[in-house]
Amino acid sequence: MSRGEPIAGLDADGVVARLMRELGRLPGVGPKTAERMTHHLLSAPRGEVLALAEALRAVKERIRRCVRCCHLTETELCAVCLDPRRDPTMICVVEQPRDLLALERTALFRGHYHVLHGRIAPLENVGPEHLTLDRLSERIRSDEIKEIILATNPTLEGDGTALYVASLFSGSTVRITRLARGVATGSVLEFANNQMLADALQGRQTF
Ligand SMILES: [Zn+2]
Repeated sequence: MSRGEPIAGLDADGVVARLMRELGRLPGVGPKTAERMTHHLLSAPRGEVLALAEALRAVKERIRRCVRCCHLTETELCAVCLDPRRDPTMICVVEQPRDLLALERTALFRGHYHVLHGRIAPLENVGPEHLTLDRLSERIRSDEIKEIILATNPTLEGDGTALYVASLFSGSTVRITRLARGVATGSVLEFANNQMLADALQGRQTF
């Protein structure tokens, strides 16, 4: 097929329609973009397309959760947990790996992390049991941790989750802090700029 040739009378159950549907599920990809991507893949060299397919397969097969902090990793422990220059007595609790990456870009936080893989969202039936809180409790009990920085997003659900986590450990000797409101309410850590995150981290307050 030549580039840009229309695919007339597509079989709705055929492979092309299926690819278009799968691409259309990706965030930020509407039907038009999915169609454009499909046409691109149909006309792209076979090696290029198979490399993409292989990358998709590899990411699902090889990526797992760090046994300590639940960040995504290809090895038992993630790069942050393995780094001997980092301070293991401080744990920054985030909702998702992408929030961890946003904080890492500021290069200001030199402690460890804990990735919850979600936030408490009653309307979506996501309760505390769906998060990695058991693992966090184990870390608080067994590791030498002095401070937990709650860096969940400044949204209603992020705040609720921070409150819940703080209440879990309120009886312990660990200092519990929350990111300052350098990150505007309702915004998402992932999209905050470095200076905002740096201010939020430095201005953190005891919960
Ligand atoms: Zn880790």
